[in-house]
Amino acid sequence: MNPITKAIRIQTERTSEMEHSTPLFLTSSFCYNDAEEMRAAFADETDANIYSRFSNPNSTEFIDKMVALEGAEAGFATASGMAAVFASFMTFLKSGDHILACSSVFGSTITVLNKYLPKFGIEVSYVAANDTASWEAAIRPNTKMIYMETPTNPGLDIIDLELVGKLAKKHNLLFNVDNCFATSVCQTPIAFGADLVIHSATKWLDGQGRVLGGVVVGKKELIHELYLFCRSTGPALSPFNAWILSKSLETLDVRMERHAGNALKIAQALEGHEKISWIKYPYLASHPQHAIAIKQMKNGGGLISFNLKGGLESGRNFLNNLKMLSLTANLGDTRSIASHPASTTHAKLSEAERQAVNITPGLIRISVGLEHVDDILADILQALS
Ligand SMILES: *Cc1c(COP(=O)(O)O)cnc(C)c1O
Repeated sequence: MNPITKAIRIQTERTSEMEHSTPLFLTSSFCYNDAEEMRAAFADETDANIYSRFSNPNSTEFIDKMVALEGAEAGFATASGMAAVFASFMTFLKSGDHILACSSVFGSTITVLNKYLPKFGIEVSYVAANDTASWEAAIRPNTKMIYMETPTNPGLDIIDLELVGKLAKKHNLLFNVDNCFATSVCQTPIAFGADLVIHSATKWLDGQGRVLGGVVVGKKELIHELYLFCRSTGPALSPFNAWILSKSLETLDVRMERHAGNALKIAQALEGHEKISWIKYPYLASHPQHAIAIKQMKNGGGLISFNLKGGLESGRNFLNNLKMLSLTANLGDTRSIASHPASTTHAKLSEAERQAVNITPGLIRISVGLEHVDDILADILQALS
């Protein structure tokens, strides 16, 4: 079956009630009929559930769908995207190792890399998203992992997954990709050589701004290691959130098609607008890495970024003049969202630090929702004027 069908049809075994929709399994632990069945479960001889910190039917259903969508072998679901990121670092890196990360990764990931990994003797260095040619020279003898996101946040640069996948293979490095921005129905990094794929399920996977969640998928042996780390340290996804997320995946493909369709129309309409100095959307021919986007993404995704000629003050004015778009610290929702990184998410950085990750004073990021495209565009245009 096509992965999109699997994301709809994979289902936890029915209970004796023969329900059509998977019920919520709110239980912290699971029972056995006798001592032998219990022994076998603990000896990992069966895949019987033991305790919801290890596994639960709701999280298993969500994981199995994600594994199908990403073309992976196994996965583990976590309480948030950051728990997934952190587990992927702590499972596979040890004191003395080096991680090569793209400088434009999610803000909290940078904090983990800069503040917490050094406490365990793990070194990090950064490479630029738009200069993949320089990445090989940055690999050290103790480099263990390459970590990146594409499209990048919030600049929407596109990194060539195939090229980095080959580089990782050549140097025997774990290739770890946060696939949150594109989602698994648009881009599957494993097909280009990724060993691990991470998601913040909080964003497009839920797509309705309701729950936090995360997931890591990859090869069986790797995920087994990660499972052992998570089973002991406790970042498990709650059954309720897993139940929500599993339902969300049934509509992921149709939702993303509409998000991307709306985003393309808006990007095309805004291109050349007198108040905007540049606009970036992966499926606009003017995007600097458009050819790579076409190669590795099925559509351009739901995010647009553009730069206001008026800089910081214009960015704030733009937010103040929006009537419908939400001002909120999230993305990937049915409701369109506007953000101005220089005065909000990235305000604590120095001007030089912002420049290093391509955050200009007038940068606006739009997470395009599922409202009628005419209404989204009308709100953006009136705020611009
Ligand atoms: C939001 C986000 C995360 C972190 O996910 P949480 O669910 O908020 O912990 C990681 N990576 C990217 C790209 C994100 O957008």
